[in-house]
Amino acid sequence: MRVRGRDSVAVWWVRRDLRLHDNPALQAALRAGTVVPVFVLDPVLTSVSRRRTELLVAYLRALDRSLREIGSSLVLRRGRPSEVLRALVQTSGARVVYAHADVSPLARRLEAEVARSVQLELVGWPTAFPPDAVRTAAGRGYTVYAHYRRRVLGQPLSGPLLPAPVHLRPHGLPSEPLPQSPVAHSDGEAEARQRLRRFVGGAVFRYHRDRDRLDVEGTSQLSAYLRFGVLSPRVVLRTAGEAAEAAPDPESRRGAQRWRDELLWREFFAHALFHSPHARNRPLRPGAREPVWDNDERLFRAWCEGRTGYPLVDAAMRQLNETGWIPNRARMVAASFLVKNLLVDWRWGEAYFFRQLADGDPASNTGNWQWVAGMGADAAPYFRVFNPVLQGHRFDPDGRYVRRWLPELSRVPAPYVHAPWTLPRDDQVACRCRVGRDYPAPVVDLRASRDRAVDRYRRARDPSR
Ligand SMILES: Cc1cc2nc3c(=O)[nH]c(=O)nc-3n(C[C@H](O)[C@H](O)[C@H](O)COP(=O)(O)OP(=O)(O)OC[C@H]3O[C@@H](n4cnc5c(N)ncnc54)[C@H](O)[C@@H]3O)c2cc1C
Repeated sequence: MRVRGRDSVAVWWVRRDLRLHDNPALQAALRAGTVVPVFVLDPVLTSVSRRRTELLVAYLRALDRSLREIGSSLVLRRGRPSEVLRALVQTSGARVVYAHADVSPLARRLEAEVARSVQLELVGWPTAFPPDAVRTAAGRGYTVYAHYRRRVLGQPLSGPLLPAPVHLRPHGLPSEPLPQSPVAHSDGEAEARQRLRRFVGGAVFRYHRDRDRLDVEGTSQLSAYLRFGVLSPRVVLRTAGEAAEAAPDPESRRGAQRWRDELLWREFFAHALFHSPHARNRPLRPGAREPVWDNDERLFRAWCEGRTGYPLVDAAMRQLNETGWIPNRARMVAASFLVKNLLVDWRWGEAYFFRQLADGDPASNTGNWQWVAGMGADAAPYFRVFNPVLQGHRFDPDGRYVRRWLPELSRVPAPYVHAPWTLPRDDQVACRCRVGRDYPAPVVDLRASRDRAVDRYRRARDPSR
């Protein structure tokens, strides 16, 4: 069915840009003629994570509502993007398909396949800075965050922010029904922008102090919106800069600047993966050697299910399994425990996180896992092993976080809550938290497993030892 009436038609292939504001691909399609916004539900991608697919559907519904408010609607199709888009171009009479470019190897293969079947124009990125905005003197991508940050901070954000269109010509093409989203509902852009506004109106100025606290909501929780492009990364980064300028005092400015620097980690990991596609499953850092992993499946399962006997690790994993989001500090501690104390291959943990996270992103997830495992950017010293007990006392001093996700610890007093096995047996009975019965005994000894990990890493660096 051809689009009626007007001269030319352009397809906007919606990818990780589920928004109308500041959307270069949408604007390019709009300049070319009547826009046909299409989202292709590709079974290869939707089978990776049920949670993310449900969230995606909620965001697609919100996008469809926004499009209808301005005269258009979302066309949903199932199948392989190259085949779906070729058929759509033929039936609609469009000449060009506009979409943003992406950074992961899988997404880039998909782009290449689509480009072989239709005329594809790639405009914009899922990041604020294009991945080739900066390069090393040798013309390569950066592998060290600090160097990337220094260079990129000197760059202007490319071009002015683009307003959302107020009207789109109707295309008249039918859509397959949007799947029902049983759990998630979202108001999409409106909701995301409101959260951004609320965060930069206050908490951003305390971010440097609160971001690691597990008992305080000290971060923006914008990651899933950024992951799906419900929020424009350029808008978010610019807002961070404006918050720093508007800060009432130097201390508050530090908070906003620190938040901007965290946004730059996201930029950096996308840049790094774009320039080093091997880093999706091999060490980013040239010459990094992996230790011999034990890969004990029983221990891995205990970790996945939040049954390691270390409350901070278990609370993180249960929060992940229940909600799909955990604070950065809890991600770091849980990841370090798996890789170092349990000597399980970081790729196992990465894959598990990738399936469970609402914000699961190939670049940020792989990049952070490698950072924790000492394989990636800014090589963390191999002897740094987070101690979940000390981390708990420091970032969750009253145990509020762990008690929330581990109700079996609800009566354990704060001094013991991060190491319940140290509570005398009678007190365990009184608190209804008998270690080994109501809550697991630790699956490994902290000190011994730490020493083993350090030794394993040392041997990997110097096999003659
Ligand atoms: C093992 C591990 C796996 C991770 N996997 C992911 C992932 O798959 N997707 C993801 O978006 N983040 C990932 N992160 C980074 C970070 O934990 C989350 O981005 C952050 O917790 C999201 O919460 P927030 O939106 O409140 O972040 P805020 O602290 O408010 O930060 C604002 C935004 O900056 C970006 N950001 C912040 N920290 C980082 C970081 N270290 N790396 C990359 N981007 C960052 C995110 O987009 C975040 O939404 C991972 C971290 C670890 C340690």
